[in-house]
Amino acid sequence: SAILQVRGLRKAYANGFEALKGVDLDIEEGEIIALLGPNGAGKTTLISTICGITTATSGNVTVGGHDIETDFRAARSMIGLVPQEINLEPFETVVNTVRFSRGLFGLPRKDKIVETVLRQLSLWDKKDNQVKELSGGMKRRVLIAKALAHEPRVLFLDEPTAGVDVELRKDMWDIVATLKQSGVTIILTTHYIEEAEAIADRVGVINKGELLLVEDKTALMARM
Ligand code: ADP
Ligand code: ADP
Repeated sequence: SAILQVRGLRKAYANGFEALKGVDLDIEEGEIIALLGPNGAGKTTLISTICGITTATSGNVTVGGHDIETDFRAARSMIGLVPQEINLEPFETVVNTVRFSRGLFGLPRKDKIVETVLRQLSLWDKKDNQVKELSGGMKRRVLIAKALAHEPRVLFLDEPTAGVDVELRKDMWDIVATLKQSGVTIILTTHYIEEAEAIADRVGVINKGELLLVEDKTALMARM
């Protein structure tokens, strides 16, 4: 059964603007889904609504069978969210940043998982560095490590390669491929068609608040 289920999701903002017009989505455990669409299509709104940061106008979302509104804590604990902006504490060390994140979920800060996650992201040798000492690419890895600290089953990456150079983009694609091996389900947004084609198992095209799932990636170009 699906790890993530979205049914008839609508979001109208306070000004009346309909950013999501009835989105349905089923995602199986271990899949990588790319949500592809131009700026303003509704990608960030969809992620925030699925994660319960934004309240839906109607429709519902379940994560691992838990409803994001009525069973928020259980549903949220299964979700890791990597925001678009780098929002790290500059003077904190890498390892403490990840431990802190576990604390936010009421988990013991020190755990073997912290080392596992840092090794997975090639950050272990940087664990005692302050965040401000790291390169932009390494900071993005720390953001991912933070999001994985409580061992979520679904990881959301909001525009992970927006505004980064080609080398860092390829780096991010490698990270996503590595994470897939660990079995985590990955949902990322992008406005690069070649990124969706390169790393996703399935692609959802978002336009003006509507989502169309494309099962066959080779059909993607024809739809754009
Ligand atoms: P994307 O992530 O695909 O760029 P967004 O989800 O950020 O798209 O935005 C979708 C649409 O909703 C855009 O037209 C945007 O201007 C609008 N929007 C986003 N946030 C708000 C808000 N708080 N109030 C009104 N409209 C909003
Ligand atoms: P507590 O009192 O539970 O230990 P605090 O809010 O006092 O938590 O923060 C403890 C440490 O975590 C401080 O050094 C602070 O700078 C750091 N910290 C606060 N927010 C974050 C964050 N978002 N990411 C990483 N470290 C943080």
